[in-house]
Amino acid sequence: MTTKDDCLFCKIVAGEIPSTKVYEDDRVLAFKDVNPMMPVHILVVPKSHYDNIADDVSDADMLAVMRAVGQVARDAGISQSGFRVVTNVGDDACQSVHHLHLHVLGGQQMNDGNPSLA
Ligand code: 5GP
Ligand code: ZN
Repeated sequence: MTTKDDCLFCKIVAGEIPSTKVYEDDRVLAFKDVNPMMPVHILVVPKSHYDNIADDVSDADMLAVMRAVGQVARDAGISQSGFRVVTNVGDDACQSVHHLHLHVLGGQQMNDGNPSLA
């Protein structure tokens, strides 16, 4: 597992900063967003550090993260009603934490086709 000393989500993965964990396996951690924008707002992160989804993510970590998204959604009870998965990359998308994370958002009706978190 690769870590970065100055990375918030590496610290959460290491247990140095507390989080409300909803899912964990050997490659992935999922926890509630501290500032939820929807009734369900969960962050799914690889335990290894990658800056974002355009980084050189291993096949195993990419698969584990995507599989975890489905599991998290089923566990949260939003897999039937629907949900949205968003990952911000870089400045144009206002990425604020530079450790790959997928936002799993649901629990209420969203705008048609609007991918913005703003
Ligand atoms: P980004 O803007 O990088 O796509 O998303 C970063 C997300 O991390 C934001 O939704 C923000 O609320 C969340 N966040 C920032 N700091 C913490 C924290 O310490 N704990 C948790 N659980 N979420 C955080
Ligand atoms: Zn990190």
